[in-house]
Amino acid sequence: MNCSCDEVLAMLHAFVDDEADESQCAQIRAHMAECAECDEIVVSQRSFKALLARACGCEEAPPSLRERVSMTRIRVEVTNAVPDDRRPDDGSSSPDDGPC
Ligand SMILES: [Zn+2]
Repeated sequence: MNCSCDEVLAMLHAFVDDEADESQCAQIRAHMAECAECDEIVVSQRSFKALLARACGCEEAPPSLRERVSMTRIRVEVTNAVPDDRRPDDGSSSPDDGPC
């Protein structure tokens, strides 16, 4: 019931997402017991996923932050009435502002 590292990696996402079936989970666990590398990968994937879930779990922060950013941009635009050479999206609209 030994599977290769490649097979484990192919099932990794399903396993981490709890979408793998019993036999897949059993294969991965058996492999993890013998392969420290894959064990580490699974553990780190799990904690990464948990971290992501926690970061995106706070539903309030990203939209309000985005709202504040766009309000600031509008205000800057209005008060300065900037011409085209000073675009307000310069540096203020990084993709980090959005949720995830
Ligand atoms: Zn392995």
